[in-house]
Amino acid sequence: MYDMKALYEAQSVQDAVRLRLEHPEAQIIAGGSDVLVQMREGRRAGKELISIYMLDELRGVSMDEDENIRIGSLTSFSHITRDPIIQKYINVLGEAVDQVGSPQIRNIGTIGGNTCNGVTSADSASTLHAWEAIVELTGKNGVRRLPIKDFYIKAGQVDIRAEEGELQTAILIPKESWENCFGKYIKYGMRNAMEIASLGCSVNVRLSPDKKYLRRCRIAYGVAGPVPMRVPSAEAVANGSRPTREMIDEFALAVLLDINPRDSWRASKAFRQHIAVEMARRALAESIERAGGVIE
Ligand SMILES: Cc1cc2nc3c(=O)[nH]c(=O)nc-3n(C[C@H](O)[C@H](O)[C@H](O)COP(=O)(O)OP(=O)(O)OC[C@H]3O[C@@H](n4cnc5c(N)ncnc54)[C@H](O)[C@@H]3O)c2cc1C
Repeated sequence: MYDMKALYEAQSVQDAVRLRLEHPEAQIIAGGSDVLVQMREGRRAGKELISIYMLDELRGVSMDEDENIRIGSLTSFSHITRDPIIQKYINVLGEAVDQVGSPQIRNIGTIGGNTCNGVTSADSASTLHAWEAIVELTGKNGVRRLPIKDFYIKAGQVDIRAEEGELQTAILIPKESWENCFGKYIKYGMRNAMEIASLGCSVNVRLSPDKKYLRRCRIAYGVAGPVPMRVPSAEAVANGSRPTREMIDEFALAVLLDINPRDSWRASKAFRQHIAVEMARRALAESIERAGGVIE
């Protein structure tokens, strides 16, 4: 059924790095929900695979002594949604990945695979951009960390150095990034399940202690360009502003200055621009309310 040349099973992260260096043409397989579908379609016929699926050390969510949140790259979507740390501090990520495909896909698919495939529609990607996640890669030279915006190079391509034996080992959300922040992710798809996003929008805010001002607002989209993207023009409208209806409308219209969606069979560029404004408006209003603010 699957035309593969060989399957190597890594026994540890270091073993995975060794296998990557020994078999530079081999592809990593985690949950396999992308890779096996592509193999079955014949797109990767005759390839060697390196499975990292047995590496339990890459599974789970934890908080380090500096209160940075660490999500192991093999953590499944359903695990993330149920995880108490995620629910308490960055609930919107659990909500976002709960919108992936179907229960089966959410049980097998991993956050590592969802980011390493470099796909702009990935349901975790806009939220990870909006929360300024850090990607951790491990290779022959040790650990390398980079902001998620630099991890995405172009559609379908991320910064993983196969020649250095690298694999993604974790995604980190620094304390500065999650503390006192509340957010909302909205996915627009043509149906509710088993549907890739036509557009995804993730917003989060941190209010002032008296909740009268937005200290910080971050917004990111998936499918508004070839890779997930932040929207600085809209953020500039919201930062330091009072939570008024007028500000929210201005914020939403400002997304059009930065996003650049394309026409595709799922949706036209004009339709994506139209819903991007409405999604920004709703996601910001909901984020403010979740943060305890009152919209004036
Ligand atoms: C029916 C169906 C519905 C789907 N619906 C959605 C949806 O609604 N939303 C959505 O976002 N996605 C959806 N997907 C896509 C898919 O489930 C996700 O992208 C999933 O997160 C991939 O994770 P995985 O562990 O299965 O990755 P795999 O298939 O194992 O790998 C995916 C890619 O990432 C690489 N990779 C994986 N882990 C690592 C690592 N740790 N280090 C380096 N490289 C790595 C692999 O080499 C491969 O290129 C759907 C897929 C299917 C089949």
